Amino acid sequence: LHVAIIGSGHAGITAAITLRQNADDIKISMITEDNYPHYPRPSIYKIILGKKPEEILHYPKTWYERKEISLFLNSCVVNVNSVNKELLIENGKTISYDKLLIATGSKSFIPPIPGILDGPIYCLRNIEDALAIRERALDSSTGEVTILGGGLLSVELAKTLSDISITPTIIDRSPYLLRKQLDMEGGLFFNKVLDKTFKTRFLFSTTCQKIKHNGKHITISLKDASGMRNHTCDFLLNATGIQNDNELPNNTGINIGKYAIIVDPFMQTNIQDIYAAGDAADIESFPGSKFGIIPTAIDQAKIAAINILGSEVPYTGTMPWNTLKVAGINLTSLGDVTLGVGIREECVVIDDDKGIYRKLFFKDNKLQGAILIGTKQNLHTLKTLTIHHASLKEVKKEIKV
Ligand SMILES: Cc1cc2nc3c(=O)[nH]c(=O)nc-3n(C[C@H](O)[C@H](O)[C@H](O)COP(=O)(O)OP(=O)(O)OC[C@H]3O[C@@H](n4cnc5c(N)ncnc54)[C@H](O)[C@@H]3O)c2cc1C
Repeated sequence: LHVAIIGSGHAGITAAITLRQNADDIKISMITEDNYPHYPRPSIYKIILGKKPEEILHYPKTWYERKEISLFLNSCVVNVNSVNKELLIENGKTISYDKLLIATGSKSFIPPIPGILDGPIYCLRNIEDALAIRERALDSSTGEVTILGGGLLSVELAKTLSDISITPTIIDRSPYLLRKQLDMEGGLFFNKVLDKTFKTRFLFSTTCQKIKHNGKHITISLKDASGMRNHTCDFLLNATGIQNDNELPNNTGINIGKYAIIVDPFMQTNIQDIYAAGDAADIESFPGSKFGIIPTAIDQAKIAAINILGSEVPYTGTMPWNTLKVAGINLTSLGDVTLGVGIREECVVIDDDKGIYRKLFFKDNKLQGAILIGTKQNLHTLKTLTIHHASLKEVKKEIKV
């Protein structure tokens, strides 16, 4: 059996490891357009701080040799011939397969703001992007950078840039940071804690109407409740989300859903022997799971790999969770914290002096999500309780409230 994996990100590497753990006699090929073997995406901030790409690689090339995984770097797959079971690489090379996993991830979403693409705009997805951001940041005359978007990536980027003497301004149309991970009160609390730790300006409830690249600097026309005004910066970073590159599956006749490749519960596409996992796979049919996060990519890749080897194990979804540590502040968001109607907030602790925020979210007396800022107390217990949708009584028994 020859399994080809397109992509060496979190889904690709997890699938390769799972395949090898369960079958030592199959042939595995990993084909990636990356110039480097697998590295965890969250490590690329370190490149902006000056680390060399080789320092963030998870496994050296010898690891792939030892595991007998044939690694093809700099190899963009442009087409899949699903009848002949053959991949066409940009350089003209072809690779045949028996079973294929598409783990091609996603790319940065560029918002349709007039003028945005009339000059350079920086996004962060891979090592090359991080090197380019570092070079531009070190070359900045004023040290003023604007980051579009107020999500996890923006916060991490802002902290990273402030460490190399850049003053970031984060602009977001929502009224607070990390809207996917925090409730409004949590977002405003996190903001206050961040304000004490590093220098960043935040412009919330603000939209960008137009962008003008003037050679040396960039002028952004902003709109907020008080009207229109201009904001000037040296360079622009876009962190407004992700989107899928559906060219390859489209060329192959693979069905695409709202965001990405449609898969059945066994992670198989509409084409026999072609599977998809990670950001490349659509999540619409798996309620409760979140698209574009590492835990989802890992869970799906494990299931895909096992099924490629002949099992029939369904993917049942992934509880979303994010943990990060920015400027020494721990932040965890578990499950769904944006439930809206019918939600009850319980076990709430808000301590401004200690910088601690804890809130648990219940719906129909079932634990659906939790936010922890400035503390990791009971983190693992809470994770288990959230997965099992424990009742308030069960939660109170397990954790100190
Ligand atoms: C800077 C950064 C920080 C992040 N931090 C977090 C975090 O803290 N927590 C979290 O949960 N998520 C985080 N994410 C999101 C997370 O990294 C993704 O959800 C995850 O990487 C998805 O894994 P994947 O394998 O599906 O895709 P990716 O990791 O994006 O890998 C896709 C792979 O496919 C290759 N590829 C694409 N097209 C082709 C082609 N045509 N031919 C050959 N190869 C191709 C790419 O080169 C790459 O190797 C972060 C993302 C970024 C960019």
